[in-house]
Amino acid sequence: MLPANKVALSVAQKNQVRMDAYNLSVDTTTHDVACPCCRQRKSFSVTRQDAGLLYKCFRASCGVSGFIPTAAASLYNEQKLVPVKINPYKDNISSPTAGVYAFLFKMYGITKKEAMRQGWMYDRVCHRLLMPVNNLYGYKAGMLAKKLPGSSYGGPKVVNYWEVPDRIRMHFPIGAVKGKRVIVVVEDILSATRVGKYAPSCALLGTSMSQTQAAFLARNFKNILLILDADAVDKARDIQRKYSALFKSFRVIVPTCDPKDMGETQLGDTIGALVA
Ligand SMILES: [Zn+2]
Repeated sequence: MLPANKVALSVAQKNQVRMDAYNLSVDTTTHDVACPCCRQRKSFSVTRQDAGLLYKCFRASCGVSGFIPTAAASLYNEQKLVPVKINPYKDNISSPTAGVYAFLFKMYGITKKEAMRQGWMYDRVCHRLLMPVNNLYGYKAGMLAKKLPGSSYGGPKVVNYWEVPDRIRMHFPIGAVKGKRVIVVVEDILSATRVGKYAPSCALLGTSMSQTQAAFLARNFKNILLILDADAVDKARDIQRKYSALFKSFRVIVPTCDPKDMGETQLGDTIGALVA
């Protein structure tokens, strides 16, 4: 029988694997991560699943195996968040090309200056836009990769790479209007970035809100304005029913189109009137 410490990785070793998998943008299976136990390369396999990372060392004398959830963490882990370190050569990550900036401006009215301020990067190999996910205090919790038109990447349209355990998992855009009175909650980072010009905003990174997320918002903001995309109105009503008691006011806005697709004037008028 193997000694106990050879069966699974320690917490620190798991964090190392989580970080390596993140830095290498592991979407499926890789053998590029070194085994944190026996230090062997190529014998260690890491496979990404929805709920986390499966790992196994095939070296007979080592043989660690197990699962690293990328979802589990406590609220109080936030102070441990560290900025993302990117090696542009290793990771095939660079600044967005002129074409990517042009696309962002044409589709969403987001300028190059704004994209740079948000720290958006570009995955040259998969032709994806990489957007850091920031918590309320500006620390990066991970990176979200969104396929751009013409991408040959075979994976999902959007992949979240969590660098650190963070149960809040909402994105607060850099340089958004500050304030404690009201928070405008939207689905995605592009919408949150645009709304952030007019009001404090955050992105749910989806159409559901967990109890942890709702409690976090309620601790920091009195009033909430939920604007999910036009096709998710029922989900927005469900969230409102579940959590409205936590806030002084909880309004659901039914938009004519997604906030990220609104014209600048329409967006400014809509948000301005709502948070006034
Ligand atoms: Zn090993």
